[in-house]
Amino acid sequence: MLDRTVDFTELAVAGVRALQPYQPGKPESDLKREYGLDDVIKLASNENPMGPGARAVEAASAELGGAHRYPDGAAFVLRHALAKQHGVDPLQVTLGNGSNDVLSLVANAFLEPGREAVFSAHAFAVYPIVTQAAGASAVVVPANDASHPMPFGHDLAAMAAAVTERTRVVFVANPNNPTGTWLQAEPLRAFLEGLAPEVIAVVDEAYFEYADDPEYPDASRWLQDFPNLVVTRTFSKAHGLAAFRVGYGLSHPAVADLLNRVRQPFNVSSVAQAAALASLGDQDYIAQSVALNREQRDWLCHELQALGLQVLPSAGNFLCFRVGEQADAVYEGLLRRGVILRPVANYALPGFLRVTVGLPAENARFVEALKSELQA
Ligand SMILES: *Cc1c(COP(=O)(O)O)cnc(C)c1O
Repeated sequence: MLDRTVDFTELAVAGVRALQPYQPGKPESDLKREYGLDDVIKLASNENPMGPGARAVEAASAELGGAHRYPDGAAFVLRHALAKQHGVDPLQVTLGNGSNDVLSLVANAFLEPGREAVFSAHAFAVYPIVTQAAGASAVVVPANDASHPMPFGHDLAAMAAAVTERTRVVFVANPNNPTGTWLQAEPLRAFLEGLAPEVIAVVDEAYFEYADDPEYPDASRWLQDFPNLVVTRTFSKAHGLAAFRVGYGLSHPAVADLLNRVRQPFNVSSVAQAAALASLGDQDYIAQSVALNREQRDWLCHELQALGLQVLPSAGNFLCFRVGEQADAVYEGLLRRGVILRPVANYALPGFLRVTVGLPAENARFVEALKSELQA
């Protein structure tokens, strides 16, 4: 028979051919299966260790009976609630299937071959993926050096200098994942002021709720001043709803209109919309989550430093720390002990590992396991 096998990679569009897929944290179920463990803790994906809020769960459950209906594609109620919370017009809100979806909408609406997206080295892995998938060129700007007060964080001056007439999008993660580093209001605002108004500036605030530096900005307050600004937020982190996939973008209505043209019509399920709406109204749960994170992040940081490890400053619910050459071995050793961390060599941070701040008992177990591994 005729061999009908073809080289499908050759058939794919250029951007996809060179694409390296996103590497998620290892699921607990994989580790249990592969290592025959039954007591496993996952500190790998910056999820809220408290679980979802009771009000969100209740609202989602109440929605299940309507699962035969398509969701409200315009997410009217949730969109209006978000607009009210941010003091913007509902036409400025774009809902996403997670905020990753919004990042992808920006790329689809504004990037194509011949255009460039600028972002920092060690920035969130989704920026290169959506840029390349759109066929555009990624301009990766060297980050702050290791001795900077925000080691490996965004160098805004270098990013500004990397912008050309081909640049259509700049991605800024504040705080950044996986480093945890952040930008204060004054330099970030000055960066936006210096940016050509034709360049879409995405400020990704996935960890907004956790940031506690009084100089940390809420960029959504600046939407009036910068029509080219897109601020992204998510329900996946402090709101504890990662599985539901809800995020959103805040922007000028004209930009939101373009994002909505490329958005899948039903990209956020009715169950997810209900959960997100309930969670928005559950400020006690958010406050508790943030308080727990603050206390435990400080504790973990102290413990890691006591082991002689360099810990990067973090405004998020995770810490990035330097283990050195044996980072891979330590990661594997921790897996065998049932503790899942996130290796970050793919972020050009070899020798570092990232740990999500968990519940007190999880953090204590991680520290004990790490001590054993470092001695081994
Ligand atoms: C987790 C994360 C996101 C959000 O992902 P979702 O798609 O909303 O789950 C966005 N940006 C950064 C920097 C993140 O770490």
